Amino acid sequence: MDRDQFKTAAHSAIDDIINYFDSVPERRVLPAVEPGYLRPLIPENPPDEPENWAQIQKDVDTKIKPGLTHWQSPNFMAYFPACVTYPSILGEMYSATFTAPAFNWLCSPACTEMETIVMDWVAKALALPECFRSTSETHGGGVIQNSASDAIATIIVAARERRVRELLLAEGLEEGTPEYEDRKFDVQAKLVAIASDQTHSSGAKGALVAGTRFRSVSTRLEDNMEMTAPRLREVLEKCDKDGLTPYHLTLTLGTTNTCAVDRFAEIKAVLQEKPAWQRIWVHIDAAYAGASLVADEWQYIAQNFAEGVDSFNTNMHKWLLVNFDASVLFVRNRLDLTSALDITPTYLRNPYSDMGNVIDYRNWSISLGRRFRALKIWFVIRSYGLNGMKAHIRKTIGFGDLFAGLVRGRSDLFEIVTKPGFGLTVFRVKNPQAVSNGASGSSDRVAKDDVADSLTKKISELVNTRGEIFITSTAIDGVCVIRVISGNALAEEKYI
Ligand code: PLP
Repeated sequence: MDRDQFKTAAHSAIDDIINYFDSVPERRVLPAVEPGYLRPLIPENPPDEPENWAQIQKDVDTKIKPGLTHWQSPNFMAYFPACVTYPSILGEMYSATFTAPAFNWLCSPACTEMETIVMDWVAKALALPECFRSTSETHGGGVIQNSASDAIATIIVAARERRVRELLLAEGLEEGTPEYEDRKFDVQAKLVAIASDQTHSSGAKGALVAGTRFRSVSTRLEDNMEMTAPRLREVLEKCDKDGLTPYHLTLTLGTTNTCAVDRFAEIKAVLQEKPAWQRIWVHIDAAYAGASLVADEWQYIAQNFAEGVDSFNTNMHKWLLVNFDASVLFVRNRLDLTSALDITPTYLRNPYSDMGNVIDYRNWSISLGRRFRALKIWFVIRSYGLNGMKAHIRKTIGFGDLFAGLVRGRSDLFEIVTKPGFGLTVFRVKNPQAVSNGASGSSDRVAKDDVADSLTKKISELVNTRGEIFITSTAIDGVCVIRVISGNALAEEKYI
């Protein structure tokens, strides 16, 4: 494709993209295809001769679009939103144009420096504690990761390395010696990462990647599925009793099932109870709900964990108008990351890195090469302004409140199961028998009920089979529930 052909093709693709966004509200949100639908539509072998763009684009229309789940549809109310906006798409275009796997500063200084600056902007926009900025006295800073799961796995590996180092130095061993290496794996075998049973699966996966044990703290409906201090203490004490060393704790701001917020203040107090517990790396996973911190009225949550937290992540690609991937990870002390992940063979050395006064983001993540993702974040923040981003968050939280109100208004049919929050409503269908007996609807506590469970599941499946609206069902503390959330850029009140 030469420059003129590119120009024609790009204009045509942009027109198609705009038409797609215009038409997406009218499309079925879930595709009407069966597994394996695509293979018969695509030639078995790649073409030997070049094909023209018009043909390729036509196939996007006839073969790809019919198999898409439309996450941008305002009728997409499942999982969490995955936003995309025009400025973010422009960021992707420039990023592709400048493609540079900028692992070291030297590999594309603008790429590295923009990431540092934009991460400081985001830290300020979310009112995160000062320690997470690149300019902080604690040597903090932010880095863009592919996904929250990558961010969490990276952090857990860094936490493991930090704890092992502390334990071995306390034993008088010197890093880099054979004794240190041998003992390292003895110590590692006793390490435990902790999270709640509501923590996203990336918490357990992170422990798996780090090659350590994992234990979970149970949650209950009566605690709104939040991790509480007494239940965490139980797990910590059991670890002590079993001769294990907790080294990492994932707390969640906005759990995947119900958007619960773990009880940061009381958990912080528990961690102060024993010197060994004070050494646990505390991470806040705010993959979805962290976006709400852009709005002033939610920023008190960040103040609650200001002290004692080692790292924080949120996915701007969920609710904050930047498309996948834009998972931002902040650390209190970047040396914790770099001392775990810096492996520098000669071919990666250069005078700037050797002087130590530049950031080489390869030492902040598992991957070496990285995309220029800061551009799309920069474009979105500038195009919307913080006020535009706040307005999006407030508007979609408002849709959640509206929906929860509608559910409450039909208390003959439905009941809310956990506290609605961050735009998410979690509810179930009532057992009609219990309603007519007057046994349902009066108490604050949702009781287990097999009939309610099976009706809830059936109705959720029926909605999704129709394909006009997409919702998720799940189970919490043994109760089957439906989750409804509407937070993408095209969300509107009329769809609620
Ligand atoms: N953490 C939470 C709370 C989530 O809800 C999710 C996904 O929904 C994740 C982590 C994983 O996100 P990612 O797909 O970016 O790995």
